[in-house]
Amino acid sequence: MKNQTAYLTGAQKIELRDSEMPRMAPDEVLVEVKHVGICGSDVMFYEDPSVGGRLDTPLPVVLGHESAGVVVEVGAQVTGLAPGDRVALEPGVPCGKCRWCLSGKYNLCPQVNFMACAPWERAALSRYITHPAAFSFKLPDNVSTLEGALVEPLAVGLHAASRAGAGLGQTAVILGSGCIGLMTLLACRSMGVSRVVMADLFDNRLETAASLGADLTVNSGKEDLTQRVLEFTGGLGADLVFETAGSPVTTALTPGLVMRGGRIVLVGNIHEKVSFDFFALNSKEVDVLSVFRYRNLYPVAIQAIAAGSIPVAKVATNFFPFEEAAKAFDVAKNQKQTALKVVVEF
Ligand SMILES: [Zn+2]
Ligand SMILES: [Zn+2]
Repeated sequence: MKNQTAYLTGAQKIELRDSEMPRMAPDEVLVEVKHVGICGSDVMFYEDPSVGGRLDTPLPVVLGHESAGVVVEVGAQVTGLAPGDRVALEPGVPCGKCRWCLSGKYNLCPQVNFMACAPWERAALSRYITHPAAFSFKLPDNVSTLEGALVEPLAVGLHAASRAGAGLGQTAVILGSGCIGLMTLLACRSMGVSRVVMADLFDNRLETAASLGADLTVNSGKEDLTQRVLEFTGGLGADLVFETAGSPVTTALTPGLVMRGGRIVLVGNIHEKVSFDFFALNSKEVDVLSVFRYRNLYPVAIQAIAAGSIPVAKVATNFFPFEEAAKAFDVAKNQKQTALKVVVEF
């Protein structure tokens, strides 16, 4: 076995280099990586490793946190996994000891060691990686490693939908029809939400949203979204409003889209300050929720995919072999409008 890793060596520079085989701890598995999805956060580091001078990224670093592969070897303490098992890797490994870990909210662990971000100790874009067995989830025979890699962004959508209390009979509005918006749509649908409205500025993304089950799509650059949503809901507004675009403009629209007593869930990372009409919320008694990644959802997502309730693979649009990882990042950066999810295949 020889290892090879795709390194980010500078802004918009990805280089494939030979690398050491990783050393496996007794509670870890050695995994031959098969699929890695490229996330918005990977593209953010690829465009500018310092993220506008805010981060001190120690180049070269390795990107990729949406991954699945095949177990090659298991550590001495590992039970329940064997060589040949196909696994999806949950990228955030928490400390297991703090109050958030012990309460089950391990996504909020201050010491979480997440792939492809500080402290830059772990990432997916190598031929071989090691991973704690406890965060390596065996895939059933009818779930592919492509679907396994897509469990990560799907878990974001599922966490948003479960924080929102998504359920039967509700109407949801999802702002942004990129990967996370579509994953939120799939999550809402699988959890019984009856009607979903998707908004975006790009028609091709809205076509994908419609093909994945959106009941109404609105190009918010061409139409008045608030008016369309009020028409669609008989003047009531939506039970649930998800902001997934990370945009101050769409965030500011949310109080006008939500129903009295409804919920607004902020999923996208909004970097700018936003002018927000809290007064409109008060009179509607609206809950505003934030979400950070996800927790305890890999087994849920894998079972739902296996049962056929979530056609997650439909979100993957562009595929590149590992040898062309540089090209994959170039497309993810320069064709954001059409390349909803770029996937690297080994
Ligand atoms: Zn991701
Ligand atoms: Zn912890």
